[in-house]
Amino acid sequence: RAKADGRGAIRTFEPSMDRRMHDQRVLQLDLQNATQNGELELLYQPQASVDRTVYGFEALVRWRHPTKGLLGPDFFIPIAEESGQIIEIGEWVLRTACREAATWPAHLRISVNLSPVQFRHGDLVQLVQSILLETGLEPTRLELEVTEGVLVHDFSRALHILRGLKALGVQIAMDDFGTGYSSLSYLQAFPFDTLKIDKSFTAKLSTDNHANEIVRAVIGLGRGLNIPIVAEGVETPEQLDFLTQERCQNIQGFLIGKAEPIEAYAEITGRGTPTKGGNPA
Ligand code: C2E
Ligand code: MG
Ligand code: MG
Ligand code: MG
Repeated sequence: RAKADGRGAIRTFEPSMDRRMHDQRVLQLDLQNATQNGELELLYQPQASVDRTVYGFEALVRWRHPTKGLLGPDFFIPIAEESGQIIEIGEWVLRTACREAATWPAHLRISVNLSPVQFRHGDLVQLVQSILLETGLEPTRLELEVTEGVLVHDFSRALHILRGLKALGVQIAMDDFGTGYSSLSYLQAFPFDTLKIDKSFTAKLSTDNHANEIVRAVIGLGRGLNIPIVAEGVETPEQLDFLTQERCQNIQGFLIGKAEPIEAYAEITGRGTPTKGGNPA
């Protein structure tokens, strides 16, 4: 989002900018074949309770570019959103993640990120419903992660879709909580099932007193509204201690495990054998 704003704000046309637009265009063309050529991959990052018991995974997309190597979503999702290619990518992610999760033990859930663009085109509720039917995944085991950005553009349309999704029985999480705007009014407008505290707050725990207070307040808010909290980006035992003390329920972060090919978590999913032993974190 910040990148898009920055791009629009620059008025002087510099050669470097010309270059960047060219690079973007090239990536966009490359991306056109990415889904068909099987260049997209999903990594899975564990989500756990503060006692470190894994209860599910978040699917995180990567693009194995033929010449540039493995690219992260921050690099190509904004481009795909601008071109509309996110619709096809988003559908592929959802289908692949649900198909994968359907093979896991029933107590494990799957979280999938949705782009605001997916709310503006096509019938998202219909798509989710048909993928659930097709994959046989129990709706309650699917959690869809949205950011506040989803509710910014066409509030009533977004609300209508969120309600439709919820009626299917899927869970809705608010991702990156605290980094957008009007978060509190959105909490009032829609009964989110989970709040994910953005990792920028978690990262500053214990070094920044403001961050401590913000995280404490969000956990309290969740408790008051009866919405479980997931703290993102938990990297250290000290951060986990703080979160446990504040009675945060759930965590996600390198301390539990990184985003990895699902084979790395075979011990948890019971699917196949791990390629390498030891702790994937
Ligand atoms: P997100 O949904 O907030 O995902 C969490 C991001 O934080 C992931 O980055 C994850 O690898 C990273 N992370 C997790 N734990 C830690 C930690 O302990 N320390 C640090 N420093 N980072 C951690 P990733 O995979 O690069 O994804 C970035 C963002 O791209 C995601 O943020 C999400 O907004 C978006 N994204 C990823 N996959 C998809 C997708 O399939 N569709 C859409 N629309 N967006 C996606
Ligand atoms: Mg997410
Ligand atoms: Mg997040
Ligand atoms: Mg994020």
